[in-house]
Amino acid sequence: MDIEQTKGMKQILDVYGMLEKYVSIDEGIRELDRKAIKDIRDEFERIDSIRLVNQAKVLSAMREEGLAENHFSGTTGYGYGDAGREITDRIFARVFGSEDALVRVQLVSGTHALTTCLRAVLRPGDTVMSVTGRPYDTLEEVLGIRGDAPGSLREFGVEYLQVNLRDGRVDLAGVKEKMTPSVKLIFIQRSTGYDWRQALSIADIDNTISYIKGLKNDLYFMVDNCYGEFLEEREPTAVGADIAAGSLIKNPGGGIALTGGYIVGKKELIGRAAAVLTAPGLGKECGATLGITRSFLQGLFLAPHVVAEAIKGAVYASRIFQSLGFEVSPEYGDRRSDIIQSIKFNSKEQLLSFCRGIQKGAPVDSFVTPYPWDMPGYGHQVVMAAGAFIQGSSIELSADAPIREPYYGYLQGGLTWDHLRLGVLITLQQMKEEGHIVLE
Ligand SMILES: *Cc1c(COP(=O)(O)O)cnc(C)c1O
Repeated sequence: MDIEQTKGMKQILDVYGMLEKYVSIDEGIRELDRKAIKDIRDEFERIDSIRLVNQAKVLSAMREEGLAENHFSGTTGYGYGDAGREITDRIFARVFGSEDALVRVQLVSGTHALTTCLRAVLRPGDTVMSVTGRPYDTLEEVLGIRGDAPGSLREFGVEYLQVNLRDGRVDLAGVKEKMTPSVKLIFIQRSTGYDWRQALSIADIDNTISYIKGLKNDLYFMVDNCYGEFLEEREPTAVGADIAAGSLIKNPGGGIALTGGYIVGKKELIGRAAAVLTAPGLGKECGATLGITRSFLQGLFLAPHVVAEAIKGAVYASRIFQSLGFEVSPEYGDRRSDIIQSIKFNSKEQLLSFCRGIQKGAPVDSFVTPYPWDMPGYGHQVVMAAGAFIQGSSIELSADAPIREPYYGYLQGGLTWDHLRLGVLITLQQMKEEGHIVLE
C-alpha cells in the first residue's frame, strides 16, 4: 500500500470517529461501507459526466427562453395570459427535446399525467398495445384491466393488448405477431416499476420505436418516463416518442417542486392533452399557477444534480447489499436508465426490517413504523418507507415494496448522496439489531 492510499484510509477512519456522535455504526458495517465506496468510484465519474451535460441542457434552455423574475409571480382564477406557465412549458419542451409541453399544478400525479396522455390519443374502437409487459400498477385501473373503476379506457371502448418482455427486452417478434389494424398507441414503460428487470435505455427505446414504425405507419408512441428523467443525455421524446409524461415529485422536480406533473411531445398531441385536462376549446390557455412556477423551475434546475445524487446512492446500495449476499438489480456496474434499486429479500420479515431501517434514517417521521396497507390504485398491499418533506415524494429517499412473493424491495431517491449513504448505514444497523443480517 502506498502512502497516498494510507492517507486516504486514515481520512475515512476519522470520518467514522466524527460520525459516532450522531449515528452509531458497528465495525462490521463500517467495513462494508469502506469496501463499497472503493468499488464504486469509477461509476461516480460516469454519473458526474451525464450530470454535467444535463445541467448544461437545463441551463441553456432557461437562458435561451430568457427566464426572469417576473415569471415566478403566478396568476389566480382562470390564469389567462400566465407568462410563467407559458415559459415553463417552453423550457420543459427544450429540455425534453420535444415540440411542446404541458407542465401543470393541475396534473395531480404521474398517474394523472399518463392518464391524460392516454385519453388524448385514444378514441372508441382504438387499441393500446403495451410492449413492456404489465404497466405500472395504478395504470391497470386506468386501462380497465383490473377492477371496475368508473371512467376507465375500457369503459370508453378502448381495447388493451400486451406483449411481455423477453429476457428483459422488448419482444419485437411478439409485437409483430400481435399487431392488429386497430392498434393506435404503443405504450412503453421506461422504468422497472414493481418488476425485476432493468430499465429500458434510450437506445432500446429508439430501436423499439424504429422497428415498430416499420410495421404500421399510423401509430403513436407513448413513454411512461417516471423515474427515468436525467439518467441519460437524451429523453424519449428526443428519439421518436410522440408523447411522454412523468411526475414532478420524482426526478424532474428536483425535490423542490411541491406537486404536479408534466407531459411533453408533439404539438398536436399536447394540444389534445390540454383539451382533456381542461376542456375542449380552453386547452392550454387557462390554469392558474398560484406562484408554483418558481418551485417547478428551481426544481428542474436542480434535477440533474439531485438525480445524480440519487443514482450514486443506488449504486452504493446495490454494491453493499450484493456484498451481503443479496440479489440486486441493477448490479453496481450496470448502465442505468432509472433511479430504482431493487433488492431481493428472503422473507417478508426481512423486507419489513429493511423498510423500517429506511424510515428510521429519514429526516421527517423517522420515529414512525411503516406497515403494509391497501394503497388506492394498487391491487395488493404495499409497504412504503418515506419520511419526506413533500408527501409521497420518491425523489427523496424512500423504499417501497408490494407484499407478495418474491420479496423485492425497491429503493429510490435521496436528495443528497450523503443522506443515501447514511440511510443505508442506518438501515443495515437496524437490520443487524433485529437479527435480519449477520456479519462475520
Ligand atoms: C410512480 C410511477 C407512476 C405513477 O406515478 P404517481 O405519481 O405515483 O401517480 C407510473 N409509472 C411509473 C413507472 C412510476 O414509477
